[in-house]
Amino acid sequence: MAYIEPAPLKDKENPFEAMMSRFKVASEILGLEEEIYNVLKNPARQVIVSLPVTMDDGSIKVFEGYRVIHSTILGPSKGGIRFDPHVNLDEVKALAAWMTWKCAVVDIPYGGAKGGVTCNPREMSAGEIERLMRAYTQAMADVFGPDKDIPAPDMGTGPREMAWLMDQYSRNHGMTTHAVVTGKPLVMGGSLGRTEATGRGVMVSAMAAMEKLKINPYKATCAVQGFGNVGSWASRLMHERGLIVQAVSDLSGAYYNEKGMDIELAMKYRDANKGSLDGFEGAEKITNEELLTLPVDLLVPAATEDVITSSNASSIKAKLIVEGANGPTSSRADGIINEKGIMVVPDILANAGGVTVSYFEWVQNRLGYKWTADRVNRRSDRIMKDAFNNVYKTAQEYKVPMRIAAYMVAIDKVSKTYKFRGGY
Ligand code: GLU
Repeated sequence: MAYIEPAPLKDKENPFEAMMSRFKVASEILGLEEEIYNVLKNPARQVIVSLPVTMDDGSIKVFEGYRVIHSTILGPSKGGIRFDPHVNLDEVKALAAWMTWKCAVVDIPYGGAKGGVTCNPREMSAGEIERLMRAYTQAMADVFGPDKDIPAPDMGTGPREMAWLMDQYSRNHGMTTHAVVTGKPLVMGGSLGRTEATGRGVMVSAMAAMEKLKINPYKATCAVQGFGNVGSWASRLMHERGLIVQAVSDLSGAYYNEKGMDIELAMKYRDANKGSLDGFEGAEKITNEELLTLPVDLLVPAATEDVITSSNASSIKAKLIVEGANGPTSSRADGIINEKGIMVVPDILANAGGVTVSYFEWVQNRLGYKWTADRVNRRSDRIMKDAFNNVYKTAQEYKVPMRIAAYMVAIDKVSKTYKFRGGY
């Protein structure tokens, strides 16, 4: 079947709708049977919990927590935990499904899941965050497990939170269980290379795409939206490979330097400045909107969902978009971007470096052995390159955009496995 743009949605798009509209198009091209489509569109399990936590002032606050297991067809479910004020069930459902497709695209033996708690960690003390993470882990005691469902960091969480999760789970089960969670600190079963893994995968995807587009990385300019773990590491590693990173941004605004930003300095500044670039010198302050429409070769949205939308897509001047974030482009923007001939390396491919090294962390934990950084990087780069080539080949073969091709690769793999495993 020929490729038809997803139908534009009338209302403001929620991430689950954005995911579903691409899933539908890819399923139709693949000729996926309706019953299999129905199996894959519904999450396997959705858990909602209330988490009462004692705050530092003695009051008790009740938080809402979620864990959505989208699929366990390819293996135990895998996916991060998000601590953010915008977390809601629809977002977690979309993020869980994206994890299923992501793991399938890079061919690692995991299903997809995601968790989240609606909270604002920026306004909470370390003690409050720890109690919240322990309460969440306790509530999910029968959901998580090294062969069942393996969490990891996402927005608002990192190695510190994963350490609390691992400890709480281990106490609960009466034994140290490293492999129940990935993204842990190095000293307690974390993997070398995990911190920079998602950014590194973004860089590898960008280099592979530039080769196809015949863009010389030594002359290429780039803008990165978001300066968290993904955006900052992607910027740094691309800069190391010769790209001129002209702009980066975070919640405090965007920072532009035509000659290229000093990324290492910006990272040091951020770390010493409560995680914010606010007040960073050596760059001109511009708006986030201006950053997205800069005349650069490469644009990397690496913050959150729905930033490239139908209202700004037509002003984008980049030749290539590599999605570091999950769901940064609305489905309504897809059509505009495709029409302009901009290549998009989609989220479920471009940011899969993180879960790939999570998989290596889990493998090392189960082996009781530690790999060198070199082994981790070489193997994850290979996986990312192979996945890129596979998606690129599918896009050429079916004459579809890279995003639809990535969904096709993923859906094909999951649906074939489902048929082998069988139902009731
Ligand atoms: N939260 C990350 C993602 O969205 C990592 C997930 C993982 O390592 O399991 O891909």
